[in-house]
Amino acid sequence: EGAGPQGLDTKFLQQLDSAHYLHPFTDHAALREHGARVIVRGDGIYLWDSEGNKIIDGMAGLWCVNAGYGRTSIADAVHAQMLQLPFYNSFFNTTNVPAVQLAALLADISPPQFQHVFYTNSGSEANDTIVRMVRRYWQLAGQPGRQAIISRRNAYHGSTMAGASLGGMAGMHAQGGLPIPGIHHIGQPSYAEGGRGMSEAEFGLEAAGWLEASILALGPENVAAFIGEPVQGAGGVIIPPSTYWPEIQRICDKYDILLVSDEVICGFGRLGTWFGCELMGFQPDLIAFAKGVTSGYVPLGGVLVGGRVAHLLTEKGGDFNHGFTYSGHPSACAAALENIRILETEQLVERVALATGPHLKACFASLVSHPLVGHAETCGLTAGLNLVRRNGETVHDCEPFASTHVVGMLCRKHMFDNGVIMRAVGDRMIVAPPLSITVGQIDEMVERIRYCLDLTL
Ligand code: PLP
Repeated sequence: EGAGPQGLDTKFLQQLDSAHYLHPFTDHAALREHGARVIVRGDGIYLWDSEGNKIIDGMAGLWCVNAGYGRTSIADAVHAQMLQLPFYNSFFNTTNVPAVQLAALLADISPPQFQHVFYTNSGSEANDTIVRMVRRYWQLAGQPGRQAIISRRNAYHGSTMAGASLGGMAGMHAQGGLPIPGIHHIGQPSYAEGGRGMSEAEFGLEAAGWLEASILALGPENVAAFIGEPVQGAGGVIIPPSTYWPEIQRICDKYDILLVSDEVICGFGRLGTWFGCELMGFQPDLIAFAKGVTSGYVPLGGVLVGGRVAHLLTEKGGDFNHGFTYSGHPSACAAALENIRILETEQLVERVALATGPHLKACFASLVSHPLVGHAETCGLTAGLNLVRRNGETVHDCEPFASTHVVGMLCRKHMFDNGVIMRAVGDRMIVAPPLSITVGQIDEMVERIRYCLDLTL
């Protein structure tokens, strides 16, 4: 009795869930009211819940299932590796075959300055590693005073102490004694938020100028690095003007500051290039990655280390006293090798650039005619649209709703109930579907989104 089509008793699972499982980023009082939705299966861009409902996963899990669900060959690769050697560590002068092969492959597909990788298990750990690595770098470079790291408001860099400190989420800083010392934040390059009275190009230069002002206030001799996401993801798909990143690069070069690209979302094809910095036109010294490297099949993250930092660490550094038991986990690296092979052989990154990305852009442009939508932006296969009261044509003629998040949450609920997953960041609705999505499936997704916008009106 009460068993869904999978033979699962949803109510019973929800009771166990509520009794024992503390979920990340979740209000448990609210969760208890409805019960968690139990996701039981995935194939391509679709998920099924324990009640048999079919859902379009507009968020690729959490921006990570780039190759889509149901990839037997990734499961086979991990299975074979687990039988051969499930785990061995890379401390104390040992290594393993998939970790080496993946390191060489990452050097091959990333921008030419990257010939080395440091493995972690997640994006948060990658950013924690970066904090320690840049500070160690400046010690080795004979400028130990360079300890400050500049980041941006509303950035998301993870949930560990250093990751959440680098992040600029007010709600996270309000809990747990954050940020750690030496982290500073400047404004985010959101044209809709701060660009009134300026062209996008002008605003890009203005927003990059906030970095220079911060460097000068701190003293360049105290600044180690600047970190940013090429396109801010969890902050609401904030796509900077094209002038922004080249100007950031110029400023970092001028003051000899390390430039760090957090590519946990943008890496592995999300923007139609292997790494987001390639699209945005800058050459970072370090790249944080995770998520799309394995399409989420097994946890894996890491830091791509550019020549300048790698040289000092490997030639002059002695021990770098940092690492994780599972750094270079062979089964995770086996998943990554097969995942990247899929992205390459199916040319999924090129498809984002040439077909699915442009189609998503056209579809989202058409949604702007909806009375609830103020403006919409896409970049590759990620997009955001603002739910607003419209007073005119431009992005600055829209009025936000008085109490943020209420309309966004309602819209998200309609989507949830009608088989499409979109995320609500305040009243900004965002998508980032698997890169395996087809043009026809984008139409199917956008049709459902439009229907749910109608329900929200
Ligand atoms: N950096 C960015 C840009 C992210 O979007 C995320 C996660 O969403 C992280 C870091 C943290 O990664 P993880 O959740 O794997 O620790």
